[in-house]
Amino acid sequence: MIHSLRGFRDLLAPDSTLFTRIEAAAREVFALYGYQEIRIPTIEPHELFVKSTGDTTDIVEKEMYAFTDQGGRHVAVRPEGTPGVVRAYIERNLSQTGKNGKYYYIGNMFRAERPQAGRYREFEQIGAEQIGNPSPFADAETVAMLVKILEKAGVQGCSAEINSLGCADCRGKYRGILSGYLKTHADALCEPCRKRIDQNPLRALDCKIDGPRLAGEAPALELCPACADHFDRTQELLKLSGVDFRVNKNLVRGLDYYTRTVFEVKAGQLGSQDAVAGGGRYDDLVKSMGGPDAPAIGWALGVDRVALLIKDSAGADTSPQIFVISASGDARAAAFKLLGDLRAAGLSADFSNFELSLKSQLRSADRSGAAVALILGGDEIKNSSCAVKPLKEKARQRTVPMADLIPEIRKLL
Ligand code: ATP
Ligand code: MG
Repeated sequence: MIHSLRGFRDLLAPDSTLFTRIEAAAREVFALYGYQEIRIPTIEPHELFVKSTGDTTDIVEKEMYAFTDQGGRHVAVRPEGTPGVVRAYIERNLSQTGKNGKYYYIGNMFRAERPQAGRYREFEQIGAEQIGNPSPFADAETVAMLVKILEKAGVQGCSAEINSLGCADCRGKYRGILSGYLKTHADALCEPCRKRIDQNPLRALDCKIDGPRLAGEAPALELCPACADHFDRTQELLKLSGVDFRVNKNLVRGLDYYTRTVFEVKAGQLGSQDAVAGGGRYDDLVKSMGGPDAPAIGWALGVDRVALLIKDSAGADTSPQIFVISASGDARAAAFKLLGDLRAAGLSADFSNFELSLKSQLRSADRSGAAVALILGGDEIKNSSCAVKPLKEKARQRTVPMADLIPEIRKLL
């Protein structure tokens, strides 16, 4: 027997149903906000992620499935969606030929992390990118939209946190101050953070080991007046949108390209893998990747984690409404025809194997979760009728004329 790889899963109902429901909720909300779907490749040039996500991030340093293909090209299986969308935006000249710069994607991402509850090596993200709008209206709209999607998917009890990382100027100054601080406290840092002091000191604040302690002790980032104003206005607009949020000065996120607003939605019920969605502004990324000067903002939501949150809610049932049984050889064709008629009437119907015994078919009917079994035998065929057997309550089986069957069943469902 061959097993699936660690961190890679098969999804069956009810989980697959939950995933579909979350995707449907997202698509519905995206349409209301003027977003169009983009489908990007699963495999991209390796350097795309090195240059955008950042070569000192965990994702690129440790977690990427990268390999050299048959043509000798260095490629990577996407660990996140933003780099691919930005590449497409530039490559296809969407700043000129596109509409409003609003794109969403739904797709699987791959990261070689240590698998645990809520953390897998293949997982699904729903993501949104809004490219070309530098104003706080875009920030507030995109966060409000994320919250709407979570609500529509049935998630309750989430909290949104926001922060500002400032612009390249604010961060340039802060980088110097922070790396000075980290150097004088290097003994207390974990090995990877010590290495990053010069290259990327901000990453220490996002470190799962050093981050929480540094949050209280390290010097905080000071925003320049323009960035402070952007952050204030974003908060006002979020309040206007009715979004429940709090400012978390220690929120830095693990990717290199963020500027100004960053945010995360968390759910306490998820335990240590509590991040449901995260995102932020990336005003310099499109330009730094060779595109136009197009400030942007986006987020990604973890569908696997949302599915865990709504697992216990109703509606994930994939049972058919009706189970059709043939009780004798001469009724099989009519039973098969009946299945088609039921489905044409919009009723979900299933069967097992008309050639098996009545007892065996009844067992399958019970296991199917259907509400009603319809049984056709020689007598029913002769009288143009059908036996109706409720499966979930103790009500008696009765015989209904074929002509009345569908309205009669509807009453039972
Ligand atoms: P974490 O801090 O939990 O590692 P992250 O900051 O790496 O999250 P992002 O890159 O911002 O996550 O991805 C957005 C969302 O995708 C996360 O909030 C989470 O819900 C989901 N996600 C990220 N990595 C995984 C994974 N390995 N398995 C399942 N979901 C994931
Ligand atoms: Mg991570």
